[in-house]
Amino acid sequence: MKVISFLCVVIVLYCLSLPMKSVFSPPVVQPSPTVGREDGGIPKKQLGKRVYYDLNDLKQMGLVKGSVNWKQETCSIEKNDDRFVFERNNTVFLHNGYYESIDTPALFLNKTCYLPETVFKKVQSSSKKQPTMEQVVTSYSAKQLANHLSFLRSPIPGSHVSSIDSSLPGAVRAYRNGVHEGLDWYTYGTGKVINTKTAVLSMGSGLVVRSDQNYHEMSTKERNHWLAIGSKNSGQTPDYILDKLRGKTVWIQFENGVMARYCHLSKIPKSIKAGTHVKAGDIVGFVGNTGTSDGALHNNKGLHLHLDILIYGNWLWGNYTVAERRMILESVFNRF
Ligand SMILES: [Zn+2]
Repeated sequence: MKVISFLCVVIVLYCLSLPMKSVFSPPVVQPSPTVGREDGGIPKKQLGKRVYYDLNDLKQMGLVKGSVNWKQETCSIEKNDDRFVFERNNTVFLHNGYYESIDTPALFLNKTCYLPETVFKKVQSSSKKQPTMEQVVTSYSAKQLANHLSFLRSPIPGSHVSSIDSSLPGAVRAYRNGVHEGLDWYTYGTGKVINTKTAVLSMGSGLVVRSDQNYHEMSTKERNHWLAIGSKNSGQTPDYILDKLRGKTVWIQFENGVMARYCHLSKIPKSIKAGTHVKAGDIVGFVGNTGTSDGALHNNKGLHLHLDILIYGNWLWGNYTVAERRMILESVFNRF
């Protein structure tokens, strides 16, 4: 009898472990061994109907330089003077400081990065672009940065930059052992009621490079799983986990190397897709709480816009004091 109950416990425990595994660790699909060669002898791999190229093959053949950052799960590639950065599960990549969209993300497997054919063609056909302002921007004073961003208009007219410092970029986020990347727009602190009826607007003329029209909300369990991995990563939440925590997003590439991510959206108009050109004042989404702990519970709490601003792919806020960050953001957004 004891043996039977013991076996029952073992079987129940085993069954309980199954759904956990299937939710968090989908079976890893591997690209095939080389299935053929591109003109020039570049080995091709196949996964489903898609063709991929192994970064190691491309490096060995002297076609590109590159490396994978396994903490962040990003892959940097250099070809002549062109620089590319790809990220796990992300349909945008950085090209000489500007974001571009791709149909299929790169794969990070077997200690290498696999580039889908469409992406590889972009890398292969790249030619030297004008040098970016990247180096200059990273040494800007607070005043110079404010000036650089001065063409932007408010994403939520009638509100102002939050009076609460923890809503500013650079604020500590202890729950994931990290730092707040963006600027939060809650009802509290911005002088305007902000809820799911609040439209968020394009801050200038730009190109939509990502629009999460088919977003699926995570469960609390799933979210906690990613948070636990994120907080163990030497104090730096990897980008691909931050990406999950941003919820439903729209990414817009503006001029001057400025890229904005609108996060936690509840809705995105159907017309806003990767490749859509927008102008200042166009509605690009509605405020929500997707990707947050409230979003996972499908309640109506914690509604806010989280707005990330990157310049030539750089997160620059760490260069400034809290007072300087506030001065920069208020000078840009409190005019309207
Ligand atoms: Zn935020």
